[in-house]
Amino acid sequence: MSKFDPASKVQKLRHFGEFGGVNPSITDSSTYTFLHGEDMFETFAGHMEGCFLYSRHWNPSNKYLADALAAMEDTEAGWITASGMAAITCALLQLCNTGDHIVTSVTTYGGTFAFLKNYLKKFKIDVTFVNITRLESIEAAIQPNTKVIYTESVTNPLLQVSDIPKLSKIAKKHDVKLMVDNTFTPMIISPARLGADIVVYSMTKFINGKNDCVAGAICADQQFIDDLSNVNDGTAMLLGPVLDPLRSSSILKNLHTLHIRMKQHSNNACYLAKKLFKAGVNVVYTGLENHPQHELHKKIMNQGFGFGGMLAIDFGTVEKANQIMQKMQESDIGYLAVSLGYFKTLFSCSGTSTSSEVPEDIQKQIGLSEGLVRFSVGLDNDIESTSEQIKKICEEGGVI
Ligand code: PLP
Repeated sequence: MSKFDPASKVQKLRHFGEFGGVNPSITDSSTYTFLHGEDMFETFAGHMEGCFLYSRHWNPSNKYLADALAAMEDTEAGWITASGMAAITCALLQLCNTGDHIVTSVTTYGGTFAFLKNYLKKFKIDVTFVNITRLESIEAAIQPNTKVIYTESVTNPLLQVSDIPKLSKIAKKHDVKLMVDNTFTPMIISPARLGADIVVYSMTKFINGKNDCVAGAICADQQFIDDLSNVNDGTAMLLGPVLDPLRSSSILKNLHTLHIRMKQHSNNACYLAKKLFKAGVNVVYTGLENHPQHELHKKIMNQGFGFGGMLAIDFGTVEKANQIMQKMQESDIGYLAVSLGYFKTLFSCSGTSTSSEVPEDIQKQIGLSEGLVRFSVGLDNDIESTSEQIKKICEEGGVI
């Protein structure tokens, strides 16, 4: 287990607002004045540290949040985007040119899968999909034109754990970048500490934790972030998916409670997983000893935040999954909704929702059962009673 403490890194941040406000001031401006014409040119050329030019390029509110995330991830720098997909697509397009190649985990969020499989064809960027737990197949998939190995720390929705230290070794050996989506496990796993070159987030999920906006982030070394925001050829600067500063400032406040929320999500998910597994439910949770990468997860996680709030239950058929989900919503266990990291429990049938972009034959091949329901376990105060309720619904539905 790693001794790194991302929560203290966030807690130590000291940002003050105008007039000594305890929160940094929100910069409600798209453009910024300069006292001297030469300074404007120097800022365009990227030579004016601390000066702001135009809010698509950088704005102070996004800079506060980017710096906070970089502290949490222990990277030199960060960049804030208007969605998780913007973070993923900008970072990949920054790394790859026409004719390049990516090796990726076949189990990823459906939108990422669709971008890799369907969209990158436009740029003649080739993608090989692999089982991320089979390290030998990753190395075998690397070609002379490979630029990136892409994975999620804990994959969506199958909850496979990526061996980031070993993937990093392979990446370094072949001089390719390792990019890791850490959306499921902020604070729990620190991919850059384990050797990832670029860490991306959908902040829509646990980091913000309120389901009131979509947002994303990229954490990496200073050079990569500078390249992304270069006015001449930076992908983020030129495609322009910048987050509104008002949202950014509210996410920064929510980031300061992330460690408490992650502990509670983890405690609740672990309790549910153990109870339901014992009752005979087909549950997948990285904190269960029967999970194939349980020991690996233990090895790479930071101390004190648990195994995370995500679990999956295989109800066998989509009809059964729908019936149980409806019953759970009626019983106020949570909401039948996509997304995750919310204070209420959210559940959805992955194959027909957030992974519906993955063709059926590939779903079968990777073991994504049509009845697999992904749970993002909420911050319930009385998880014992939630667990009893779910058990009863499973019994009545003939699942156990
Ligand atoms: N990465 C993961 C693991 C996700 O689950 C999602 C969304 O569900 C995304 C990225 C995309 O993020 P966003 O919806 O903020 O664009």
